Amino acid sequence: NSERRLQKFRDKQKFRSTLNRTVSTESLINHDANNDTDDHNNDQDLNATNHPHHTHHNVQNGDANKTITSVVSMTSTISQSVSRRMYHQKSLGYESLDYDICENMLHLEEENNARRKGLGNHYLEFTRWLVIFFIGVLIGLTACCILYSVETLTNYKYQKLMNLLNSSNPNSMIKPYIIWLLTNGIPVFLGSWLVTYMAPVAAGSGIPVIKCYLNGVKVPEVVRVKTYFAKMFGVICSVVGGLACGKEGPMIHCGATIAAGISQAKSTTFNLNFEIGLSRFREDHEKRDFVSAGAAAGVAAAFGSPLGGVLFALEEGASFWNQQLVLRIFFCSLVSSFTLNSVVSVFNGERMGSPGLLNFGKFQDIDYSFYEIPLFAAMGVFGGITGALFNLFNMKLTILRQRWLENRRLLRVAEAVFVSLLTATIGFALMNVWSECTPETTEETQFPVTYGCQKGQHNVMAALWFNTPEATLKNLFHNKDGAWNIRSLTIFVITYFFISCVTYGLSVSSGLFIPGLMLGATWGRLVGIGLSYALPNETWIHSGKFALIGASASLGGIVRMTISLTVILIETTGNLSFGLPIMITVFTAKWVGDCFNEGIYDIHIDLSNVPFLGWQPPSDSSRIFASEVMHSPVTSLQVREKVRNVVQILSSTHYNGFPVVDENTIHQAVRTFGRYRGLLLRSQLLVMLKAKIFQEYSLDAPWKNLNSLFRNSYPRYPNLQQIMNELTTDELEMTMDLRPVMNPSAYTISHAASLNRIFRLFRALGLRHIVVLNDYNEVIGIVTRKDLAFYCTVRFDKH
Ligand code: ATP
Ligand code: MG
Repeated sequence: NSERRLQKFRDKQKFRSTLNRTVSTESLINHDANNDTDDHNNDQDLNATNHPHHTHHNVQNGDANKTITSVVSMTSTISQSVSRRMYHQKSLGYESLDYDICENMLHLEEENNARRKGLGNHYLEFTRWLVIFFIGVLIGLTACCILYSVETLTNYKYQKLMNLLNSSNPNSMIKPYIIWLLTNGIPVFLGSWLVTYMAPVAAGSGIPVIKCYLNGVKVPEVVRVKTYFAKMFGVICSVVGGLACGKEGPMIHCGATIAAGISQAKSTTFNLNFEIGLSRFREDHEKRDFVSAGAAAGVAAAFGSPLGGVLFALEEGASFWNQQLVLRIFFCSLVSSFTLNSVVSVFNGERMGSPGLLNFGKFQDIDYSFYEIPLFAAMGVFGGITGALFNLFNMKLTILRQRWLENRRLLRVAEAVFVSLLTATIGFALMNVWSECTPETTEETQFPVTYGCQKGQHNVMAALWFNTPEATLKNLFHNKDGAWNIRSLTIFVITYFFISCVTYGLSVSSGLFIPGLMLGATWGRLVGIGLSYALPNETWIHSGKFALIGASASLGGIVRMTISLTVILIETTGNLSFGLPIMITVFTAKWVGDCFNEGIYDIHIDLSNVPFLGWQPPSDSSRIFASEVMHSPVTSLQVREKVRNVVQILSSTHYNGFPVVDENTIHQAVRTFGRYRGLLLRSQLLVMLKAKIFQEYSLDAPWKNLNSLFRNSYPRYPNLQQIMNELTTDELEMTMDLRPVMNPSAYTISHAASLNRIFRLFRALGLRHIVVLNDYNEVIGIVTRKDLAFYCTVRFDKH
């Protein structure tokens, strides 16, 4: 059915491309609808029954009806509306954020007050830095908490298991196996239950949702306190439960939630609202800046990589960027990394030296020559291909999960527990079936399992499975040549590929960095071993070096980050001179991977139907004009409106933005086409109605001292039904002056502007609405962020 509708939509695009570029009010109103009668008839039923804002207009008298018909047909909104509605239905639940600053009279008054007090913006700036500092500290402490919990619990678990395995009779392995199953299953059950029932948005690594948030999409509950707890405890459970995942990705999400929580000084989860002078930050764009800093600090604490954090925020997140913001983000990253470092050094009684959760340790003899560079690039190509395969499998699996497990919470928990049991079973089976032994001296694993081996030797396969993924990764990087053999590594890499692929997307809080690195480190080491067999006399072949290159290639091929990943890897290895090989590998992996599919995070964003705006406008977008993209007719408000009208419009439409137009310029029948004055949001109207800011109540300057009113209700606004119940009949006849509250300088665009230009405006400024004007400054259409995302996905056949 949806295919059919899409086809219909495409057919109509052909017709629309013949449309004239110039649109004026007259032409809109007087346009003869003959051209479109077919279109109209086809879709009329759909339109009338399902599109509330059109039915609203249809309740007009005969004359107006004619006007509406011609207006609607002129812009072919009907055909668009079919696909548009499909899209809106799919992306339901995701509202847009508004990163534009509303410079209304309230804002001006606030600025003036601050200037009069002699504080200017210094006080605000100082508070920002202070808040950033606390955010950094708290993120550092969260990282410590995760680090120590994971370390203590896993040490205990593997120590006990190792003792059991080493002391038990080879013929009665059932007890250690059952204990292993339990120590995997119970934590994963707890973690998964927490995530699934408390905060489903905390599932996965959290990078996709933070990307969406910074892109301008309000993913429900994404930065709530409960999400933070689910994320933090969830990731401890997943890692302790032996899942193939890391604890680094979730730190980014944790950082973002901390930033949002502290900067807003209120929590919906706990119903708390602290009046500590931070209410100026209760705006989308302020909050976004803090969230960017929090995400960056999360990366910094996770990888001990403050620069990587800043670049991550730049590459993956912030749509808006300026010098001040970079400074704050960098400061936040440094503070979080420093906090973690200090706590760890105090605990370990050492000098400061471990700035992150993940540390690859110092690589000793890591050097390279020119002739190795093609080899690194070749490994990048392989990483790109395996990454693309990983993403493909994971995508198919995610689609299946969406189909069968979407709203079945118990099954989602059961699935997670099943995968954790499967991981233990596979590990156990491999240890038994392919047990190979090496002398203990060549191995540096923390928990040597001597099971199945002679005295003085230990099980190689167990050394791979019997540890946190981070520790195994470190061993793969640093163990001497000859510590692992080809057969064990090959079997391990194949099984781990599938296990980690299945694990990502479970309803648990889990990171993807470590499994990605681990896969690459394993096959990279295999490359190293292969080379040393082929060229036995060469001294430049160290398997550790190839493990690092393999890890970069593999992760680059999966996540497709370039600059931030390179810097993170350079910082975690602490070796700048090896930066170029890492960069070449990561970039090659990305380019090769991009030939096949998108990065894993983008795939997950696409699959969840989030209206996401990419970096670039679609290729032929300069040939499409605003008049084609816009939604028309537009429901507008006059600068002074009757309360009754406002309530009626709010209750009969679901629009979030209303252009405000001059009085008596509006076309009364359709409430549209007035001369543009500004833009007002639904939320602002609701707050005004709730507080009864009516002219009759306060004749002179009704907006005085109302600044905090709007901020205090952010981000959850009053309910319309409740407001309606509170309004008396007299009040309904009162007048509202919208001028002080509306945004008088909201962005507008001419009907002849190209889609390319609109896209760039939206992307760069983080807008939510843009009003389309004709040559006479009259409102003829509106484009929202979601409309644009719709256009880029449906119209350009992204799917
Ligand atoms: P979001 O709700 O996240 O802000 P949206 O695209 O859903 O984004 P809405 O304001 O909910 O925006 O409007 C839904 C649809 O109606 C959009 O396609 C938009 O173009 C259109 N629209 C928005 N405001 C008006 C308006 N005042 N008059 C007519 N149509 C509008
Ligand atoms: Mg909407």
